[in-house]
Amino acid sequence: MDREPVPKKPRVGEEESNGLHSPVTLCHTAPSNELWYQESLKAPEAFWDQLAKERLEWIKPYDKVMDVDMNSGDIKWFINGVLNVTVNCLDRHARDNPDRVAVLWEKDEPKQHEPVTYKQLLDMTCQVANVLKSQGIRKGDRVVLYLPMIPLAIAIILACARIGAIHSIVFAGFSAEALSSRINDATAETVITADEGVRGGKTIPLKETVDTALKESPCVKRVLVATRTGAAVPMAAGRDHKLEELMKEESTECPPEPMDSEDPLFMLYTSGSTGKPKGILHTQAGYILYTGLTQQYVFDCRPGDVFACVADIGWITGHSYVIYGPLSNGVTTVLFESTPVYPDPGRYWEMTERLKVTQIYTSPTALRMLLKSTNEYVTKYDRSSLRILGCVGEPLNDKAWQWYYTVVGEGRCTVVDTWWQTETGGIMITPRPSANDSTPKPGYPMNPFFGIEPVLVDDKGEVITGNDVTGNLCIRKPWPSMARTIYGNHEKFLETYYRPYPGYYFTGDGAYRDKDGHYKITGRVDDVINVKGHRLGTAELESAMNRDGRVAETAVIGCPHDVYGQAILAFVILKDGVTDDEDSIITGLKAMVKTGVGSFAVPHKFLIVPGLPKTRSGKIMRRILRKIANNLYEELGDVSTLANPPVVNDIMQKWLKEA
Ligand code: ATP
Ligand code: MG
Repeated sequence: MDREPVPKKPRVGEEESNGLHSPVTLCHTAPSNELWYQESLKAPEAFWDQLAKERLEWIKPYDKVMDVDMNSGDIKWFINGVLNVTVNCLDRHARDNPDRVAVLWEKDEPKQHEPVTYKQLLDMTCQVANVLKSQGIRKGDRVVLYLPMIPLAIAIILACARIGAIHSIVFAGFSAEALSSRINDATAETVITADEGVRGGKTIPLKETVDTALKESPCVKRVLVATRTGAAVPMAAGRDHKLEELMKEESTECPPEPMDSEDPLFMLYTSGSTGKPKGILHTQAGYILYTGLTQQYVFDCRPGDVFACVADIGWITGHSYVIYGPLSNGVTTVLFESTPVYPDPGRYWEMTERLKVTQIYTSPTALRMLLKSTNEYVTKYDRSSLRILGCVGEPLNDKAWQWYYTVVGEGRCTVVDTWWQTETGGIMITPRPSANDSTPKPGYPMNPFFGIEPVLVDDKGEVITGNDVTGNLCIRKPWPSMARTIYGNHEKFLETYYRPYPGYYFTGDGAYRDKDGHYKITGRVDDVINVKGHRLGTAELESAMNRDGRVAETAVIGCPHDVYGQAILAFVILKDGVTDDEDSIITGLKAMVKTGVGSFAVPHKFLIVPGLPKTRSGKIMRRILRKIANNLYEELGDVSTLANPPVVNDIMQKWLKEA
């Protein structure tokens, strides 16, 4: 006789579950995310063990959770485990919910989107994977991707992971030279691109750029070309193939390659804000576990959500939060092909209304650009579906935070200012809305995520204890998605991240821990300004000046000064339509700094400029400003990731005129 099932006892932490996964039972007292956090630091092996078992589908279980030495930089997670990340991102969801939308493609053409279901994405991925295999590509081979934001791009990325090839995505706005150097760095034999890209109503000649790049990349044996616009592009006989034509010949089934937890998954270059970009290598199990976990808990993601991370797939944010994180959780991810200002600055919010977006994840640079226009571009659309407003990439200054919170979110949504890096794989310091954490403070990424232990270290390597302190931001405990190496340059990896402060991962950023223990990023350690004996981070000064209603964006640097050690130089971009004379603006900015930071920090010189040098991912490259201010125009350093080269000349002219 069938017995009544035993009523399921609610498990600790059940309240935190969003139903995507079984919740984690880690502590035996009252459920609280603070306790969960404490537990994650007290017993990290048990914490990660339970999550890895509950959240991931393994082909063969691992023998040991971790083997990490924070002194030597030897890092291994989920030792001897075997899995395939695409099974976790596709097969298990296609099995349970084949018709659930995996990807909502928001096309560049205004008001146009197309859904792709989990079953369709799995089929497409397998077909591409079979093409790759037919082309002779094998596990461990490097494949460089130079692709527009189309669903097939996601299938191509996952196809690499399906067969164990290592993908290296190069943002499809980089020049032929930048592309070629990345191809050569990986000694890749295969490049996958598209005929053309489309962005902001303009076409981008992708195949043409690849052809130019390949003149300097003799290692490449084959180029697969996907179709976005259908434009006729030259095809080199024997070398180039139309991807869709090859796909037609292939089956929609492809067994997943069994991958060791520590086999490489992808390599990806950092943004190049502080120097030559570093080719960071990430591996399988730890990366997929951590990106899924953070996507769920940072964004309080629930079934039925439409998650819109609008980053390009060419950045780590695109890797972790357009593709791997949301797909491993089986949610719907938006693939945003356009720009925030096409056809007008209402694009995000019109899309939000049409797609019923629940979480949007963008960058400070996009927000600063959008708040230059009138609020009507936001308010005329229905944003009631939104719950979480995320941001990453640079310090989010007060004004942009307030605008995001009040204008976009109507004071109803949680702003999550997330701090992390290409090297960390996933979000590290962030408000945790699912955790009922304390209310986020403007400009503060707030709290470490589960398992993350930030420490502040002084220049001698001593840990700074207590609160209301500033120091070099390091991480003490290992976490699953930490970078394993710089591809082909392990020495540089150790020198950059593990040798500066032995026993810790060094982030290169400075941080302030306030009286309540909450974290705020003060800027890059490389950019710190030392004036009259004070060490000043760039974020605080810039944030103070950005409060002026006439200002859109600012950047500060230090340049040598006989008396002060360093003098502060401020570069200022005005909002559209501001016609006030420069003197009145400068007087206003001086007052802002005086009240916001202190009179010692008032910049010695202000330059009103039309733009700032930025990376392709929108980050201010202060090192270029420093070179200009030191009259070192010939020594700008690595400018391969500079988005807007002409602006350098504009600033230079202004500097020469006024210095
Ligand atoms: P490179 O390492 O080549 O100089 P990059 O550091 O800009 O380039 P990324 O990995 O894309 O390359 O960016 C990580 C950096 O971005 C962080 O180290 C930090 O300086 C900055 N950053 C990211 N998110 C935040 C945030 N929420 N607040 C402040 N800074 C942030
Ligand atoms: Mg960096």
